[in-house]
Amino acid sequence: MLFQPLLEEIVATLRPELGRAGQVASYIPALARVPAAQLGIALRTCDGEEAHAGDSMTPFSIQSISKLFTLTLGMRELGDALWEHIGREPSGSAFNSLVQLESEHGLPRNPFINAGAIAVTDRLVSACDAKAEILTLLSDLCGEPVYFDEEVAASEAATGFRNVALANFMKSFGRLDNDVGTVLDAYFHDCSIRMSCLQLARATGYLCRDGAHPYTGMQVLTERQARRVNALMLTCGTYDAAGEFAFRIGLPCKSGVGGGIVAVVPDRLTLCVWSPALEPSGNSLLGTKALEMFTARTGLSIF
Ligand code: GLN
Repeated sequence: MLFQPLLEEIVATLRPELGRAGQVASYIPALARVPAAQLGIALRTCDGEEAHAGDSMTPFSIQSISKLFTLTLGMRELGDALWEHIGREPSGSAFNSLVQLESEHGLPRNPFINAGAIAVTDRLVSACDAKAEILTLLSDLCGEPVYFDEEVAASEAATGFRNVALANFMKSFGRLDNDVGTVLDAYFHDCSIRMSCLQLARATGYLCRDGAHPYTGMQVLTERQARRVNALMLTCGTYDAAGEFAFRIGLPCKSGVGGGIVAVVPDRLTLCVWSPALEPSGNSLLGTKALEMFTARTGLSIF
């Protein structure tokens, strides 16, 4: 199947809506300055076909999409022992919510909400050079060097009061082994990573190939681990909107407040959309519409 004309059509159809609705994330000052009127889409198939349209090569802040890669590193470092530190249920509340942590004794519901990613990051800080490892993994997966955006990381560190609260709260339950400042420094840097849609479509390739590296074929994760990441993306990857995403799109997805969303069609392809203006749930408004158009037009869904 040739995807290039379809991606161009999706961008052309949605372009008139750019800047009309949704809000760029403003609680991180460095993100509030990103121009809203941008839209990109890119995909890479298991056979190596690539297609991309719109602002598909513009780097953006991957934000919570990084939680996919911290989870991947955590699964590799700890194996099944990771699940002693983190749950696997949808939270049904906002990605930065504190409410469940109190009644659930500081155990985060899943690795894709902030509390969960902070808990995984704590394990990585204990096990390896967490900040170096994620850049090495991503640069290797997409075949190009990937960097932190120090301005965004500093902006988050200066205003990330909820994340500081989440980390301290978990620490009070004995759930974090390391110094809160060290763990949050790694977490904020992970969120600040800049990548384009095309780089993310390439880098996530192991998730549609049973864990095999998109270029070398080496196992990034085992087949079982890759299947589990996809299951968690479907149930928890878009926060409180995961049910709506399954209903409208029907693919495992992971979003970030930078406006990016990655999606997996198992055994076929990975794709990434980006448009900075968000819905109240924290997911990209036009990115969601672009994914919906893609699955409606191609019939590619896991259902
Ligand atoms: N860096 C953001 C935060 O911690 C990530 C949230 C997101 O992308 N949903 O609040």
